Amino acid sequence: MSGEVEAILRGPSAYSAARTAVELMEAAGVWPTALNFELWLHLVADPQGPLAQEIQRLLKAGETITEAISEDLAQAFLPKAKLHDQIRDTGDLLSQEMATVSRLIRTARQTSEDYGKQLAGANRELDVELDADGLRTIVRDLTLATSQAHTENKALEQRLADSTAEVGRLREHLLQVRRDAVTDGLTSLANRKSFDEELARANAEAEQTGGKLSLAVLDIDHFKRFNDTWGHQTGDQVLRYVAGVIGRAGAAPRFAARYGGEEFALIFVGETGPQVEKTLGDILGEIASRRLKRRSTGEDLGIVTVSAGFADRLPAETPGSLVDRADEALYASKREGRNRVTAAERCATAA
Ligand code: GH3
Ligand code: MG
Ligand code: MG
Repeated sequence: MSGEVEAILRGPSAYSAARTAVELMEAAGVWPTALNFELWLHLVADPQGPLAQEIQRLLKAGETITEAISEDLAQAFLPKAKLHDQIRDTGDLLSQEMATVSRLIRTARQTSEDYGKQLAGANRELDVELDADGLRTIVRDLTLATSQAHTENKALEQRLADSTAEVGRLREHLLQVRRDAVTDGLTSLANRKSFDEELARANAEAEQTGGKLSLAVLDIDHFKRFNDTWGHQTGDQVLRYVAGVIGRAGAAPRFAARYGGEEFALIFVGETGPQVEKTLGDILGEIASRRLKRRSTGEDLGIVTVSAGFADRLPAETPGSLVDRADEALYASKREGRNRVTAAERCATAA
């Protein structure tokens, strides 16, 4: 959550800000999902900010704020701010910790240098003739210096160990923040942002090597009806179920992502059209093979089906064009009755 929103939500105007957000959502005909609420809270907290401006622009243009648009807005305006804050905070702590470690190392070096000097001094004094008293003094001083050096080293060791552990924790946290940034929170698949990056990377590689690359898009059939009948929460469970099947089939070296809403994408590298088609058919078959049960009540939800379309990359093709052709193939699957796979080549010849 950004600073303004946090300040407002912790302040005396929290309830009225939340009410205003809900009123504005209702007036705009926007569903009261958690995500939309977060977006509208930002709008209320920062009515001149870029997010508020973009929402106003969309509403003025008569756009309906669909799930997909909300997700795009959140991706463009929310997580980045959150992420940057988190990375900056973690980065600050890490550099503080690193500064502590290097200070400790300097202190340790100084301590052992001092000790070394004291030993050298004692050595010089021992070169001259000494009486018993003189010897006793030297031995006493050295004993004292040794025990001091020992105590200081012990303390330094402990502080160094603490700092090292803290650096480890911070590093783990930073990795987690980075993982979150590329992962879809609901399904744990790669998110849209990392899909876009991976497709661009794979496309450039295919261009260079001349290797095969295929892109599939999958979309749950009649999902709106499912949500309307069983509710959004049960809908979310179905999204996780479908994502689980797609994620298992799309394990590396393939790449599976939640493309947005109830749409998924799969990237295939080095596989033939028939291999891709077979894999997609297996995914659709597996998804449709299970009768779903509502977790809370055990009610029978029936089966859910998914449609898919895929395109094999053409020479010199851009990622955008590949996505468009896979999308067209998906819509052909929808038109022809859903729960099926269509290859872009086939729907191009049909059209
Ligand atoms: P089609 O077979 O043509 O794809 O029909 P559809 O109803 O699946 O397609 P439509 O695009 O009309 O509706 C998509 C629905 O997906 C609308 C929205 O309620 C639902 N949806 C999108 N994202 C989520 C989500 O994160 N959770 C839940 N529960 N539903 C979502
Ligand atoms: Mg859809
Ligand atoms: Mg759908």
